Amino acid sequence: MQVICCVCHKTKNHKGWTKQAARSGAQLSHGYCPQCYRVMMEMVENFFVMNDCRKSA
Ligand SMILES: [Zn+2]
Repeated sequence: MQVICCVCHKTKNHKGWTKQAARSGAQLSHGYCPQCYRVMMEMVENFFVMNDCRKSA
């Protein structure tokens, strides 16, 4: 099983996250690399902040 970032398509190997393409035939597990994970969490946080503003307005 190989983990691939579903945003930037980096794959994870024993050295960490690389731009290397996934091995052909490898079973892929979609996830987020640390960079994209941080971006996604910021987006989620912003989304909830926006929703809170609307509720309290
Ligand atoms: Zn990524």
